Amino acid sequence: MIRLHDKRFKLFLKEEEILSAVEKIAEEIAEDYRDQVPVFVGVLNGAFMFVSDFLKHYPHPCEVSFVKLSSYRGLTSTGIVETLLDLPDGIEGRSVIILEDIIDTGRTLQQLVHLFSNTNVKDFKIASLFYKAEAYNGEYPIDYFGIEIPNKFIVGYGLDYKEHGRNFRSVYQITKHQMINLVLFGKPGAGKGTQASYLKEKYNLRHISTGDVFRYNIKGGTKLGKLAKSYIDQGDLVPDEVTIKMLRDEVEKFPEANGFIFDGFPRTEAQARALDHLMESKNMRIDATIALEADDEALLERLLERGKESGRTDDQDEDKIRNRFDEYNQKTAPLKRYYEAQEKFHAVDGMGAIEEITKRLTKVIDTLENA
Ligand code: AMP
Repeated sequence: MIRLHDKRFKLFLKEEEILSAVEKIAEEIAEDYRDQVPVFVGVLNGAFMFVSDFLKHYPHPCEVSFVKLSSYRGLTSTGIVETLLDLPDGIEGRSVIILEDIIDTGRTLQQLVHLFSNTNVKDFKIASLFYKAEAYNGEYPIDYFGIEIPNKFIVGYGLDYKEHGRNFRSVYQITKHQMINLVLFGKPGAGKGTQASYLKEKYNLRHISTGDVFRYNIKGGTKLGKLAKSYIDQGDLVPDEVTIKMLRDEVEKFPEANGFIFDGFPRTEAQARALDHLMESKNMRIDATIALEADDEALLERLLERGKESGRTDDQDEDKIRNRFDEYNQKTAPLKRYYEAQEKFHAVDGMGAIEEITKRLTKVIDTLENA
């Protein structure tokens, strides 16, 4: 799994498969043009890798040149094709073979055919490494192609997404589910909030901390804040129906989110079920629940330390902290089984340097098969 800008891609074609397709095209063309000196015209930018590998496998005399057109802006063809680098000189009477990285709708190809139509070349052929037969609606036949691929956006081996990804040796396909929704799981003080603040930047996610939302409401003296305060002050859990409704409201505030990090929710099985329902109703899903593991005594120390700095009253009293651990053990810890049954549970060592722990989490997230 790789990420480029805001999108996620999974491996689609390995380098060996691509190279053997390149070789196949080179052999076919070599067979057809052995008695001539063709001019290969690569279409920039995407075809540069293809042209390079192709030429290494082309055994006869040949010339090479480039044109540059542009039709992609982001993920879809805009239909506007500009000529950025014009035709090579001296191609009159020559056999020209266009080397394209990919034939998609055929708009670029149409422009190329048009460009060469009044050049009096002897012979004009198209060779494309990748060919999206389903998307192609041009009339010009594709003379040579390497691999026919489905109509999905790909990057790598010269092809880009917003200029990134051209340097990959393999080709990657965009994943179906672009969202990632994570549950950060762990006892109070395990570092969920700290880690969430890094992960939300790295993966461009919304961080929802139910504890923070409650504290914000308490500070603002809202109805919700008043309701939650007595529970929080004692280190007890706020009743499920209150928390579930609040969580739903928070998710609905960000319909454009790339995904969410749920921190401090779910804390009970009723909340976990409610979260699954909420996700389902929005055509979303939880991809992983990642537990930050640390032992009680280390956590107690961290919380007391935090209590001194933040002024959080529930972090300043050992009895209240122990009560929060008890609440966790009784009500939240069983969720491990709930998520294990869905094969979504991942445990991560929550002790050590913050950056080390972030790395451990990133490793888990980057290996999630989210296709
Ligand atoms: P936290 O900041 O996550 O440690 O949460 C602080 C307090 O807010 C908890 O001790 C609970 O009283 C309350 N709280 C936060 N999240 C939840 C939840 N999912 N369910 C019930 N109570 C919660």
